[in-house]
Amino acid sequence: MIHSVPCDACAGGDFRALFKKSSPTGEVFQIVKCSCGLVQVNPQPDVEHVRSYYEGEYFKKRTDRGYADYYSQEVKSEIRRVYELNLNDLGFIEFENEILDRAIAGGLPPSSLDAGCAAGYFVEYLKDRGWDAQGIDISEQAASFGRDSLGLDIRIGDFLSCEDLSPSSYDLITLWASLEHMHSPRKVLARAHELLRPGGRMILSTCRYGWIARIRGLRWRYMNVPEHLYYFSLGGLKKMARELGLETVRSITYGSGFTTKKNAGLLYRFLKIAADPLVKFTRQGDMMAMHLRRVQD
Ligand SMILES: [Zn+2]
Repeated sequence: MIHSVPCDACAGGDFRALFKKSSPTGEVFQIVKCSCGLVQVNPQPDVEHVRSYYEGEYFKKRTDRGYADYYSQEVKSEIRRVYELNLNDLGFIEFENEILDRAIAGGLPPSSLDAGCAAGYFVEYLKDRGWDAQGIDISEQAASFGRDSLGLDIRIGDFLSCEDLSPSSYDLITLWASLEHMHSPRKVLARAHELLRPGGRMILSTCRYGWIARIRGLRWRYMNVPEHLYYFSLGGLKKMARELGLETVRSITYGSGFTTKKNAGLLYRFLKIAADPLVKFTRQGDMMAMHLRRVQD
């Protein structure tokens, strides 16, 4: 089912059409921009409808949207490399040191939840670092892999409706490149706020709608419909988080649009080496990552 929805950021309905794009199965989706600035797929396919796109080959086959065997060691290492970079840039390590010290003193490890954890690579990463690390994912195939093959604490289900998560109990909630897939980012951030302890942190990454996206248009690497439903600006996402009681500790942008390619030519490699640091420095990357804190209340 596909139906029109009010804007998730402002609840309004004043949309301007940007373009139409076909999904791999040939369905055409409309991408619009709200007067508040949020770019989104609207009308929107419902949860069941989008779910069909994640089944079968999504985690197995290399396309510009899925993964080249998500379960391979190579993909795992690349994913880990990216979140380690993000964690360093976001000042996470300082927070972690503080919280691990407190945990040792209190006798209980700090707790984390990775929402949209897929096979649980980040859950495993934190577990290895001494956290009581949990994850949740709607993909049964990916979550089962993490649970059964990696022995991780992963729930299969929807982050918003899962009742088996305790409010005000987590020191950290992470959302790695999953907010753009969610039907209501606002509800997801509100839920994260509710589950975090006051002072608890959130780390998230998502694609960023900026000038790279505007120049690339339909060919932008993250313009994948209907999996990516929302395309935030950094300012827009900060504002939404703030309204929900999550203040920004630090934010970064990264990614010039040159993806890491195995057999890239010399010129491509040179451009990537030059462009990646430049967009990061000028805060114009087409990805962004944020470190948020639940405001004490
Ligand atoms: Zn809006």
